[in-house]
Amino acid sequence: MAKANFTVPELKQYAEIPAIEPGAMAHSSPFVSKPEFQEPLGFPGELAEDWQDHAIAKMGEMLGKYRSLRVYLDSCVKCGSCTDKCHYYIGTKDPKNMPVGRQDLMRKVYRRYFTLAGKYFPKLVGAEDFTREVLDDWYSYFHQCSQCRRCSVFCPYGIDTAEISMAAREIMDGIGMGQKYCNEIIAKVYKIGNNLGLPGPALLDTLEGLEEDVEDETGVAVKYPVDQEGAEILLVTPSADFFAEPHVDGLIGYGKVFHEAGVSWTVSSYASEAANFGMFIGSYENMRQISQRIRKAAIDLKVKRIVFGECGHAWRVAYSFLNTLAGPWDFLDPRYPVPQHICEFTNELIKEGKLKFDKSQNDDMVLTFHDSCNVARATRMGDRPGGQFEIPRAVIKAVCNNYFDMDEETIRERTFCCGGGGGLLTDDLMEIRVKGAKPRVEALNNVMQEKGVTHLAAICAICKSQFSKVLPFYGMEMDQVVSVHQLVSNAIVLTGQETENDDEDEEAGDAA
Ligand code: SF4
Ligand code: SF4
Repeated sequence: MAKANFTVPELKQYAEIPAIEPGAMAHSSPFVSKPEFQEPLGFPGELAEDWQDHAIAKMGEMLGKYRSLRVYLDSCVKCGSCTDKCHYYIGTKDPKNMPVGRQDLMRKVYRRYFTLAGKYFPKLVGAEDFTREVLDDWYSYFHQCSQCRRCSVFCPYGIDTAEISMAAREIMDGIGMGQKYCNEIIAKVYKIGNNLGLPGPALLDTLEGLEEDVEDETGVAVKYPVDQEGAEILLVTPSADFFAEPHVDGLIGYGKVFHEAGVSWTVSSYASEAANFGMFIGSYENMRQISQRIRKAAIDLKVKRIVFGECGHAWRVAYSFLNTLAGPWDFLDPRYPVPQHICEFTNELIKEGKLKFDKSQNDDMVLTFHDSCNVARATRMGDRPGGQFEIPRAVIKAVCNNYFDMDEETIRERTFCCGGGGGLLTDDLMEIRVKGAKPRVEALNNVMQEKGVTHLAAICAICKSQFSKVLPFYGMEMDQVVSVHQLVSNAIVLTGQETENDDEDEEAGDAA
């Protein structure tokens, strides 16, 4: 079991609503971004003396721009329905991690400066000045929200705390108090093309290495091309897919599927990143600039289609906003969705009977599936409602014999966050990550005990990294997490592939 310098929550068989512990997570706060990572993103380097005036002005600008923000701040009736729905509250017991508690951090400032009652009778309406103490609370608790939207599913008014937390982060960035992890990563995308700072030659080397590995393993020359002009498909995938485990096994799977489909494809060294952390910091401008890189790569490489790899929030940005951020996409082939998810792509081929599988290659695992928040609650797949739940499951079931869902209350649109989304996947937030993972790990533990599940499949790079890191805190193994296309890769039988049966026949022939 991984060692923690905090108390790891105990897993229970039944979900428990904990008694509140005010201030339990007040100490949790990520590192603040240095000026050199703030400025390239268009933000002030650090907090100025008159930060309060700037913050209120920025808030006013946003209230004018985003009508939803004002509606969310005005319409809460304190019904309490959201209070026990956030994984961070369940895991930490801190009332400021109740969605309504988190919203109130902004609501009290909004009331003080933007409502008549708050200006004249602040105490009566819970309005408060935007003091340094309040700002520190914002910084702490708006970085304890993974923007997963689970609370909004249960709010009778549809109040989306994720949007409030994005707005809060945008205001803080606007006054020079951005988060180191997200802002450093965005700066790397601008400079090098991906979150991990992997330069073009290293990318080329990595993909050539994969080609050799796959050919050694299967005897088939599957290509993993970079910057191939005129390819039909541009694959935009999280950079973790290029080397992290189990992500890279998913990338191997995408390549095998493209190979069997007989389509040409490429990744771009210029836009070698599907992730878009502009969304986490609530910055439309940064989200737009990152998305524009994909447009430029698609035009430069003269592709006809764009397919996204396994990444939850990238799929949200792509599915929900790509057209606004970087469209129109009228130069792409109109017969295909723009963009398309790799699970949709694979599932279509499965439905058409174009892929051959040996499901027994996954018989060493009993699988369950984690619905990633951004995919589940902010996107769709395919042409039917609920496609984002059914299509990944259909792919898994096509390639595995042993599959069980976790408890219904914890999957599909009610899925629990992995605990590391929304820009929280950083070591300086390990405590909140481990505690926030509790409800998801609890449901996983139950299905392990009841059904003998051994592995958790996911289609999000952040979920995979987060689970690999936090499962050991709960006494589980980091390699219990797998990519969905890793399962596809294990089971797919490539045309001309040397199989174990061929080897056995050969050995039998030699013996004869
Ligand atoms: S969006 Fe998710 S993390 Fe944020 S308050 Fe709601 S449930 Fe919690
Ligand atoms: S469920 Fe909605 S209306 Fe009710 S307390 Fe929560 S945010 Fe407010």
